[in-house]
Amino acid sequence: MSDLKEFIKLNALAEGFDRIGIAGAEPFTETSERLLEHIEEGLISGLAWFTTERASYSCDPANLLPQVKSIISLAISYNSLDISIEYRPDNPRGKVARYAWGQDYHKVLRLKMERLFEKISEREGVREARFLVDTARIVDRAVGQRAGVGFFGKNTNLISKGLGSYFFLCEILTDLELEPDTTAIGTCGNCTRCLDACPTQAIVAPWKLDNARCISYLTIEKRGSIEPSLRDSIGEWIFGCDICQQVCPYNFKVVPSNHPEFIPSIPGISQPELLEWLRLTATEESFRAQFKDTSLLRTKRTGLRRNLAIVLGNTGGSDALSYLYTALVEETDPVVKEHLEWAIQKLLHVMVS
Ligand code: SF4
Repeated sequence: MSDLKEFIKLNALAEGFDRIGIAGAEPFTETSERLLEHIEEGLISGLAWFTTERASYSCDPANLLPQVKSIISLAISYNSLDISIEYRPDNPRGKVARYAWGQDYHKVLRLKMERLFEKISEREGVREARFLVDTARIVDRAVGQRAGVGFFGKNTNLISKGLGSYFFLCEILTDLELEPDTTAIGTCGNCTRCLDACPTQAIVAPWKLDNARCISYLTIEKRGSIEPSLRDSIGEWIFGCDICQQVCPYNFKVVPSNHPEFIPSIPGISQPELLEWLRLTATEESFRAQFKDTSLLRTKRTGLRRNLAIVLGNTGGSDALSYLYTALVEETDPVVKEHLEWAIQKLLHVMVS
């Protein structure tokens, strides 16, 4: 390994990254073909902005940095534990995807990349760089695979041996010429656990995700009403979903991580008390105060209340009814109102049947 590459890897580890790989910056032709095929099959229909132009653009790193020679792919685990839960059987709880338990990763990762590149620049002189965190402007998982960070599981997540799939990815595009790592190799073998476990059957075939059915998409990115036929399958998920990762054997023996930024930032965030969160989201001010610096802001207040209504309809008992009626009377957003009404009807139906 060249001195510079070793320098970058050691400093990235010191910054807290768990995996570091270097990829060449040639266009991702195969990924582009696959994405165009998925668009044609309607698998990305939930994201109207993800057009064929966007797909092609994101597969050529030179669109983001014309002088790009190398991409540094960085992964950091968010496999934290939440030990703050106190269970009370009379209080229904929902679930929040693990990646959202800590601080908003966009800011955390960007800062880490900037600090890393500062050290590189101190050694190499001022160089061109572009920092990317979870953006559709680049095909980050394909970069991670080329850089040797992980291979694609059938659930479409990147899997890194020894790290599993609970990790964030980010990239530094640079004009530095770095020796690339070898592409990651790995296999799911005959396993189909994630396909079988997905409650909405969103993984329609190995490596093919119908994003409009994915609970992560439905509870985070989707605006407006959620199709009634999918609401039961959302189960307890208020924000995101981890099912296809929870069932993955590659995550079974992974040691929990302890990056301080991704330790649960709000007590009980992994399994929130639904009635308490209904109260906390009653106004824009309390929503923003409670969830500032977390990824939960992404779904906006109305999205989170819409999701809370669905999960209360799926899991709440008769005790939840009065809270739902109060929320319905006070609510002004028509989408949230419609979901609160749905939850009330569902609970009433369960009570009489
Ligand atoms: Fe692959 Fe099985 Fe993990 Fe799915 S659950 S990603 S099929 S190993």
